[in-house]
Amino acid sequence: MLDALAEAADTVRGQEAAAVGVAAAGVIDPVTGTVTSATDTIRDWAGTALAAGLAARTGLMVACDNDVRAAAATEVAALSGPDGSLLYVSVGTGVGGAVAVAGRLLHGVSGMAGHLGHLPSPEATGLPCTCGATGHLEAIAAGPAIAARYAHATETTAGPLQRVAAYAGHGDPHAVSAITLGARAIGRAMGGLANAFGPERVVVAGGVPRIGALYWDALCEAFTAELMAPLRELRPVAPHVGHDAAVLGAAALTHTLPLHTPSTNGASR
Ligand SMILES: [Zn+2]
Repeated sequence: MLDALAEAADTVRGQEAAAVGVAAAGVIDPVTGTVTSATDTIRDWAGTALAAGLAARTGLMVACDNDVRAAAATEVAALSGPDGSLLYVSVGTGVGGAVAVAGRLLHGVSGMAGHLGHLPSPEATGLPCTCGATGHLEAIAAGPAIAARYAHATETTAGPLQRVAAYAGHGDPHAVSAITLGARAIGRAMGGLANAFGPERVVVAGGVPRIGALYWDALCEAFTAELMAPLRELRPVAPHVGHDAAVLGAAALTHTLPLHTPSTNGASR
């Protein structure tokens, strides 16, 4: 993986390139530059010395962070002032997220902050999660989880989420149920977090929310049902930056996070 990243960097770097920003899957600690935890989506990814390994291969300084947090950084810039707060969730093959308070994205111990997919969710009670626990939000709300729930209800083989969405569009009650359950779980969790953090902006990103109004309306309804009175005007919004958000966020990491140098493998600001 590091060899492939270094090769990719080499194909796009100009003479003026001074640093590499990496937005990666998994729990990424920007301070140590390592992958502190990861699922099997990328085999043996956990424990990888991402920043040091890439710095050694490219000869450039490297800043790294989780991909969803990097994408969320592009939304922090859209806040009304430097002290604004943001909740960001990305619903796709997994459920990731980020929290910014007073204009700063939280990283937490070992880069753990913002992994909203591993909030306990009443809708997911008893379901196994990718992290090894049970009952987490990701187990009911991720795209594959919605498809699996539909397959279970109809005793069929799980297919792509787009197929479930198409069935829902034709009124299949099991498809509607699987989609709205996942949407409500996200909405409820984000509403609760909104009460906890009082954000000015709540962003719902990722591929799953794009499947249509059925999903988005169920999410918004569950979200607003949780809100306490001072937040009652708050509504989730789609991200203002599209597919390039993680790439743009990765580039910006080199200005905001510790840079890991090729020579010392240590971190400096
Ligand atoms: Zn989990």
